[in-house]
Amino acid sequence: MIDIAPAGETLETCAGVLQEVFGYDAFRGPQAEIVAHVSEGGDALVLMPTGGGKSLCYQVPAIVRERAGRGLTVVVSPLIALMHDQVGALLEAGVAAAFLNSSLSLDEAQQVEKQMLRGEITLLYAAPERLTTPRFLALLDSLHERGRLSLFAIDEAHCVSQWGHDFRPEYRGLVVLHERFAGVPRVALTATADDLTRADIIERLQLQEARTFISSFDRPNIRYTIVEKTDGTQQLLRFIRDEHSHSQGHDAGIVYCQSRKRVEEVAGLLRDAGFNALPYHAGLEPALRQNHQDRFLREEGLIMVATIAFGMGIDKPDVRFVAHLDMPKNIEGYYQETGRAGRDGEAANAWMTYGLQDVVNQRRMIDESPAADEFKQVLRGKLDALLTLAEGSDCRRVRLLGYFGEASEPCGNCDNCLKPPELIDATEAARKILSCIYRVQQASGTAFGAGHIMDILRGKQTEKMAQYAHHKLSTFGIGDDWSETQWRALLRQLIAREAVQVDAAHFNTLHLAEGARDILKGGAQVWMKQASEKPARSRNKGSSRSAAKDVAPDGQPLSLAERECLDALKAWRAEVAREHNLPAFVIFHDATLRALAAQQPRTMADLDGIAGIGQKKREAYGAEVLRVVSAFG
Ligand code: ADP
Ligand code: ZN
Repeated sequence: MIDIAPAGETLETCAGVLQEVFGYDAFRGPQAEIVAHVSEGGDALVLMPTGGGKSLCYQVPAIVRERAGRGLTVVVSPLIALMHDQVGALLEAGVAAAFLNSSLSLDEAQQVEKQMLRGEITLLYAAPERLTTPRFLALLDSLHERGRLSLFAIDEAHCVSQWGHDFRPEYRGLVVLHERFAGVPRVALTATADDLTRADIIERLQLQEARTFISSFDRPNIRYTIVEKTDGTQQLLRFIRDEHSHSQGHDAGIVYCQSRKRVEEVAGLLRDAGFNALPYHAGLEPALRQNHQDRFLREEGLIMVATIAFGMGIDKPDVRFVAHLDMPKNIEGYYQETGRAGRDGEAANAWMTYGLQDVVNQRRMIDESPAADEFKQVLRGKLDALLTLAEGSDCRRVRLLGYFGEASEPCGNCDNCLKPPELIDATEAARKILSCIYRVQQASGTAFGAGHIMDILRGKQTEKMAQYAHHKLSTFGIGDDWSETQWRALLRQLIAREAVQVDAAHFNTLHLAEGARDILKGGAQVWMKQASEKPARSRNKGSSRSAAKDVAPDGQPLSLAERECLDALKAWRAEVAREHNLPAFVIFHDATLRALAAQQPRTMADLDGIAGIGQKKREAYGAEVLRVVSAFG
């Protein structure tokens, strides 16, 4: 067996592979340190945001180690639906890769196993439940005994933790890798970075000895916007029309909704409005669901309306927006979901609308879940953190990153930075609503929900009012100078700062909570964003539209001829992708095609400087690309 070279040389070897195989000039951020460490046989826990470039952190070491005679790298990946494309991308780059999952016939699976035992595979992707079968472990034993088991990469490692947002019990079984294959390095990767989940991953996978690499979790190209829900779906339509529609159609995006029913509804609505939209949720026939996912990956400009069942591991690089029509459960989920926008580093939007009902629904789901109280408490805390983010009037990014323990400065690329909200002193109003909640409960011996409380404040004569004689209360009508929207906004704010509690188990009735005292008796002030009565007007059109769309890598806009060349390259790419049954971005990224259109290479050597064209792709496609480009010289 050839030994792995010493430190400095390892990095050089890795950089060589990066250039030769993937066509990239330099590692990004901490990638360099990680690939060197893992290539040398160290264990690693890699925390990197979506789009940060996690795949190369194990793919490069896998290739380096295989070339040094160490044998196979096994990649654990939770979603079999995506293995096909991941392996396809590696094969396109000339790397011997394969996957083992239930989509293969017995015959095909045996074929792969044989290749694996013969040492013909560099990277093997497998689902955790497959990996931990006695049969598969025995195969790995035989490789291990011959010193041909090189590395384990555990992708989406947060799946091992119940604190993460997509817990997969099968991941727990992966601890066997450590116990059974002593000396085989492991690299675990995730985009979920909160302390609880991180500690859980280390514990559950026995990674105490691993070096932890934490990247900045900032996604500077994503613009965060959180708006109050007025007419939800209409707001969504305006957002997509204003920000993501152009003459040739519209951008690719994901719209997250809470329920299957709503997914269907919204997908229909978008289609009626002329958008190319598809539904995705766990209630669809598996074949149809798969078909929708494939179309999303393969077609340009498709909008996927989905429950959170959609998206984990979706590696489509050019998703230009992620919209939440309903509020997610926590910041981890929000960040993970919004992170699916703009993996290619180009401008993208994360847009969310939320209202009081979202808060109430989420609380109820927690309260009604069969989980232990202690666990529910954690979930409530996480929901509150998200609510505080939504209600906040300061930089969204500062808060988001702060939640993950990262300090930062106001970003200039979120709604609050771009258009600082006007704040009003709502302390007096807060006292009114708090004392109203208190008095009603005192007078009637029972609590009431938000609707009735607001009716009392606004002095509305309703049946319920008469029934309980609440029109006689001293708080009746003391808030008729405020609209219901304003009161709702204030109420959310009070729930966010734990002055009011919603009892989901009892008809969403409102109760005073710990934080009320300071407002009623202490000197605590309540500031509130000026509620907008009109639906929020969109920002300057085009401000966030992907400026990168039709520009060369140096930022210069493409000329007409260059744009035509780009279109021709895209048409060529679409054909190749269809032939290979792969998404277009697996053949070449948009950025690579734009660089080709702008630089007009004439010779094979000219292709060298263009990012994303490795040796294998140059051999496979270089001549064709030059031919397409030459027509536009
Ligand atoms: P993650 O898995 O962390 O979400 P990926 O591994 O899918 O991210 O990488 C995101 C994108 O960035 C991919 O399109 C990948 O090709 C690109 N990328 C990653 N590392 C580099 C690099 N060093 N140079 C250029 N592009 C890179
Ligand atoms: Zn900001």
